[in-house]
Amino acid sequence: MTASATGLRAAESFIAAYGRVPTVRWAAPGRVNLIGEHTDYNDGFVLPFALPHNVVAAAAKVPNPVWTVVSEGMDERVTFTVDDLEPGKVEGWAAYVAGVVWALREAGHEIGGADLALASDVPVGSGLSSSAALECSVLGALCALYGVDIPEDDRPALAQRAENVYVGAPTGILDQSASIRCREGHALFLDCRTGEAEHVPFDLAARGLTMLIIDTRAPHRHVDGEYAARRADCEKAADALGLRALRDLTLDGLDDALARLDSPVARRRVRHIVTENQRVLHTVGVLRDGVEPRRLGELLTESHASMRDDYEITVGEVDLAAEAAVAAGAYGARMTGGGFGGCVIALCDTDKTAEISAAVHKAFVAAGYTPPAAFPATASAGSRGLG
Ligand code: ADP
Ligand code: MG
Repeated sequence: MTASATGLRAAESFIAAYGRVPTVRWAAPGRVNLIGEHTDYNDGFVLPFALPHNVVAAAAKVPNPVWTVVSEGMDERVTFTVDDLEPGKVEGWAAYVAGVVWALREAGHEIGGADLALASDVPVGSGLSSSAALECSVLGALCALYGVDIPEDDRPALAQRAENVYVGAPTGILDQSASIRCREGHALFLDCRTGEAEHVPFDLAARGLTMLIIDTRAPHRHVDGEYAARRADCEKAADALGLRALRDLTLDGLDDALARLDSPVARRRVRHIVTENQRVLHTVGVLRDGVEPRRLGELLTESHASMRDDYEITVGEVDLAAEAAVAAGAYGARMTGGGFGGCVIALCDTDKTAEISAAVHKAFVAAGYTPPAAFPATASAGSRGLG
C-alpha cells in the first residue's frame, strides 16, 4: 500500500473512465491523531501523523468549466458545472470534490474544468480522515493542473471550508492540516490558533516500538450531531468564562473556572479540553526528549479516560479495544479521531504486537462485537504530486 501503487490505480481508473491519460496525480494521506482530540476547534493543540494510506486524484483539463469525477468502489460517475458550485447542490461523496472546486474558485483562484479519477487506501468512516485525504488530493491535483500556487500553510483552510460549508460537516482544521503538512518520520505539533507548526521526530521503530491501529468497525452513531453539540458546549463555556476560546484556560486556572460553571456537563467538557491541551504539550516534551517514548503510553490512556468520562465521545467497542490492548501489555491506548466509533491506537513493543491484536480480537468476539482490523502505522509523508 504505497502511494505509487495507489497512484497507478488512479491512473488506470482515469484511463478506463476517460480514454486518455491523466496529466497530474496528487496523493494525500489519511492521518492518526496521536493526541489532542477536539482541541482544534478550541484554538488548541493537536499532534497528528500521516498514514502510509493515501487518496490519489488523477486529473486532466477539459476545455469548459465542467467537472467529472469517478472513484474506485463508487458506481456513479458524477458531473457538475458552475451552476452546481453552491453549497447543497452536489450531494453524497462527490460533494467533497465539488466543495474543493467551490472553495478554490470562491477564494479567487482560476480553476477550470477537469476530469478526475480517485483511488484510495484510506479506510472510509473509520476516523482516519478519508474525507480530508480526498479533499486534499483533489485540491493538490487541481492546483497543479491549473498552475495555481497556494502556499502549503494556506491550503488546509481551503479544504476545511469545502467540508464545513459545502458538505456541511463542522470539523476543525486538524484533518486537512495533517494531510497536507505532515512529514515522514515526524508528528505535526500544530497550534490551531496561529497555524504555527513544528515537525517533531517520531520514530518508534528505532526504539523497538509500534503504534498499532485498531479499527473497531463500530458503526458511527449520530456523529455529526454529537460533534456539533460538543462544539456548541465549548463555545458556550468559553463565553460564560469570558474567554475567546477554551485554549485560553490553562491547568492552573482550571479549578477556579470549573467553580464558575453551573452545569456539570459544561464542567466535564471544559476539563477535557484543558487537560487534553496539556497532554499534547506533555507528549511533545516526551518526543523532543527522545529518551523514553514508552512514557507516551500513560498519556494516551489518560486521554482515553478523559474522552470517555468527561467528553463522552467513546462507545463500547472503542473502550473495550483500549482496555483489552492495555490488559494485553500495550503501554497505553486511546481512541483517535472525532469519536462515536472509529479507531484506537495502542503503543506496543514491536515483538508483542501480534499478541496484543489477538487479545483485542478475542475480547471483541467474547463481547459479541464484529472483530476489529488491526495494522501498524508509521509516520508517513504529507500530500504531494506524483507526476
Ligand atoms: P472519515 O473522514 O473519518 O473517513 P467521514 O465521514 O468524515 O469519515 O468521511 C467519509 C466520507 O468521505 C464517505 O462517506 C464519502 O462520502 C467520502 N469519501 C471518502 N473516501 C472516498 C473515496 N475514496 N471515494 C469517494 N468518496 C470518499
Ligand atoms: Mg472525515
